Amino acid sequence: MSAPGRPAGARRVRTRIAPSPTGFLHLGTARTALFSWAYARHHGGDFILRIEDTDVARSTQEAVDQIVAAMRWLQLEHDEGPFFQMQRIGRYREVIAQMLAAGTAYRCYCSPDELNAMREAQRARGEKPRYDGRWRPEAGKTLPPVPPGVHPVVRFRNPQGGTVSWNDLVKGPISISNGELDDLVIARADADTPDGVGTPTYNFCVVVDDWDMGITHVIRGDDHVNNTPRQINILRALIGPDGELPVYGHVPMILGPDGDKLSKRHGAVSVTQYEDEGYLPEGMLNYLARLGWSHGDDEIFSREQFIAWFDGQHLAKSPAQWDPAKLNWVNAHHLKQRSDASLAQLVAAQLARRGIEAAADARLERLCALFKDRCATTVELADWIGMYFVDVAPRAEDLATHVTDAVKPALVALRGRLSDVAWDKASIAAAIKSTLAEHGLKMPQLAHAVRVLVCGRSQTPSLDAVLELFDRDQVLHRLRSVSI
Ligand code: GLU
Repeated sequence: MSAPGRPAGARRVRTRIAPSPTGFLHLGTARTALFSWAYARHHGGDFILRIEDTDVARSTQEAVDQIVAAMRWLQLEHDEGPFFQMQRIGRYREVIAQMLAAGTAYRCYCSPDELNAMREAQRARGEKPRYDGRWRPEAGKTLPPVPPGVHPVVRFRNPQGGTVSWNDLVKGPISISNGELDDLVIARADADTPDGVGTPTYNFCVVVDDWDMGITHVIRGDDHVNNTPRQINILRALIGPDGELPVYGHVPMILGPDGDKLSKRHGAVSVTQYEDEGYLPEGMLNYLARLGWSHGDDEIFSREQFIAWFDGQHLAKSPAQWDPAKLNWVNAHHLKQRSDASLAQLVAAQLARRGIEAAADARLERLCALFKDRCATTVELADWIGMYFVDVAPRAEDLATHVTDAVKPALVALRGRLSDVAWDKASIAAAIKSTLAEHGLKMPQLAHAVRVLVCGRSQTPSLDAVLELFDRDQVLHRLRSVSI
């Protein structure tokens, strides 16, 4: 039986995300993860998390933890892993040994000085600097004598002649001539013994991993497009002419609003920071998905819709541009869809970060319901709701504009009425109405003044609804600050 969405006879789809733990989960990597994950889910396949930690000097456990936490927040749950490349070094060495035995890799004893001299001579002749193949075994060729005490690198014996071609899921057909490709170093010269195999290199580890993990679709940033022909050649050497290669898809990068590569200069680039700034995972997912992919004119969609729609088609060939205003618009939409109970939890966490303990407050859900239409993030929601828990500081110009001598007597009267009515929306509305009639004022005159004093700002949702959720004493106290 085939998996849902998988054509009969096709391989089970297996995708992966392979972040390097040298920092937080970057938005670009998150988007690649999202596409890889959705592709696997769409086809009923598997999504694998692989941590590419061979850059030992720059990799940290803290970064691994952050990446895993950010993926969990976005609910990009992996089916296998995390696998760590540093735990697989023995396996890479084993494959290199097999390649040496098979003749698809060879030891090269050139010293760094020798390589420099080689490149300089090539440059002097006006040629492109490249490894000249002096240690590459060929039929009938005599290799130089092995120099004593020199630790060799291991090089891949790249095919000569012909081209490497693949039909990129995003970019379409790509062909690279083998003449462009050097014999890549697949193990460094850092082994303990001159005959040993040193640390395997990045491009090689990726190939062995994708092979061992049965990856069928490699979706990644297009900064890796130059690695792909090298990786295909190595993989071909391992799986033979009849083995099935993965499908490769290279997604263009995300640009900042100014057209440069998205970086810290443009604001937050880490997923975690967006969580901290009050964005919702479903809003983030929706926004990221639209960066470089489309489904007709659909702008707002759920995780389930995205999975149903994401079939690897309609991926943009040109870079997408980060648009904070659109992110806010998308997130605001998802915020409105959230239940008040779940918003209350998120807002309580935001308030707790400000030192406000509100989690146990029964009003929180109603407060979320009252203000959520005006907010793009839970941080904005907490900005509103904070006034119910901590004192407000009206701005002098708002006081001067709205709490005028003409309004002050009405404020005093309203305070008197509010001290004595039932504390519900209808009674508060009635108290406001009779105060207006008594003082011959229009609603905005009184309402703005009350808002400035009680809420610290002149614009709010309907005043009776806003006041009802305060403690009566709090309102009376804030109105008492008026002196006549
Ligand atoms: N570790 C690579 C990166 O973080 C990903 C490599 C790959 O997807 O093949 O860019």
